[in-house]
Amino acid sequence: MKLYNTLSKKKEEFVPLEEGKVKMYVCGPTVYNFIHIGNARPMIIFDTVRRYFEYKGYDVNYVSNFTDVDDKIIKKAIEEGVTSEEISRRYIAECKKDMEGMNVKPATTHPLATEEIPGMIAMIETLVEKGYAYEKNGTVYFRTRRFKDYGKLSHKNLDDLRSGERSLLVSGEDEKEDPLDFVLWKPKKEGEPFWESPWSAGRPGWHIECSEMSKKYLGEQIDIHAGGEDLIFPHHENEIAQSEAANGKEFAKYWLHNAFLNIDNRKMSKSLGNFRTVREISEQYDLQVLRFFMLGAHYRSPLNFSAELMEASKSGLERIVNAADNLRFLMKKAAGNLTAEEEKLLEGTEEFVKAFEGAMEDDFNTADAVAAVFDLVKYCNTHAAEGSSEEFLGGLLGVLVKLTDVLGISVDKKEEILEEDIERLIEERGAARKAKDFARADAIRAELLEKGIVLEDTREGVKWKRA
Ligand code: AMP
Ligand code: ZN
Repeated sequence: MKLYNTLSKKKEEFVPLEEGKVKMYVCGPTVYNFIHIGNARPMIIFDTVRRYFEYKGYDVNYVSNFTDVDDKIIKKAIEEGVTSEEISRRYIAECKKDMEGMNVKPATTHPLATEEIPGMIAMIETLVEKGYAYEKNGTVYFRTRRFKDYGKLSHKNLDDLRSGERSLLVSGEDEKEDPLDFVLWKPKKEGEPFWESPWSAGRPGWHIECSEMSKKYLGEQIDIHAGGEDLIFPHHENEIAQSEAANGKEFAKYWLHNAFLNIDNRKMSKSLGNFRTVREISEQYDLQVLRFFMLGAHYRSPLNFSAELMEASKSGLERIVNAADNLRFLMKKAAGNLTAEEEKLLEGTEEFVKAFEGAMEDDFNTADAVAAVFDLVKYCNTHAAEGSSEEFLGGLLGVLVKLTDVLGISVDKKEEILEEDIERLIEERGAARKAKDFARADAIRAELLEKGIVLEDTREGVKWKRA
């Protein structure tokens, strides 16, 4: 299996540290709002990578954190007049709902930064003892130049960086020995959450959080570290510096980064007003459509989100689900035993499995893997017929399910629901909302969505449609 390693800028053969096992860390979201569809890209992509390793028989230990202490969380808490913890807990719960909708498997461990502070302090102490870090007025900095390999991931040169970072000298950080030094621990400001430490009451820097959580749950050396490409510098570069300086070992063997998701060919941003949350998408589509859309492109290519592309993904997904449905339908009235011809045809599906695996082995080319699934769908539609044997139809369905499972796409048709039942549930939801029982109201919306019914709250009342 080949994967593109940002470290070497080459596709490399995957060789696990420990036979049959994959230790993988994916930087998770900062939880101060609903996740947006850009955040969904690494979740879907690396979940698919995990599923492929599992398909190949690897035991995958998959760790993905939640960054639950951060300036943006504190700002939101102040705006709402609640604690930071309330904000982060709320959006972790919401994020998990979105992940479920997108068929992203829960990680083996989802550590929270705020629950790992003692380990972070210990790691910073090690760095201070080894001369890689120093304290100034309660802040601890990493001595970047001490780490000889600094820049190896982002392929940046220290001196170029220095000229680029000159602005830092005038931004109140002139207590640093070098403008390149970055924060490991910072003292609290009034009203901020804080923890006691040997240097000040304060909180850790963002980078040390991942170094520590990765070490605690996966060990000092891991196979794969992943995230969006914006994290290469400085986040991942700094993680390497901290982990390798503290542990004296190579941190991660393979560094995988997804390219960005844009909207209508523009960067997604609050100021452009084109910011879309996963939750908004779920009001219009089954989130499997979003997942299928993301898999239609290679993860290292920029991906453009648009209404037309979502519609195309929706009909593509329908073609696959309909093929599975047709096989199940035919199975109900199947007859006879597997014929010699059918046996040959079943063997013929191997070609599609090979094409699928070949695409995935080539740096997880999901676009080509999806194309192989479409070829298989065509093959099923051509050869499955009334009068086919159950074994033949079941065999075709089995191959289709095997491949779509790797992609995290379910081919089970959503259970049909009657109109009167929909109306009854909408009424019940309205009553729950009136009684401020939002949990019940949300549960009803989710139940309907599960059955393919999308609700829209309009001024004229609640409207619904089949997704
Ligand atoms: P953040 O919450 O900003 O730390 O982001 C969580 C994850 O989402 C990181 O891996 C980011 O690189 C990734 N990410 C953020 N925005 C986008 C985007 N527009 N496209 C793809 N990935 C993104
Ligand atoms: Zn991280």
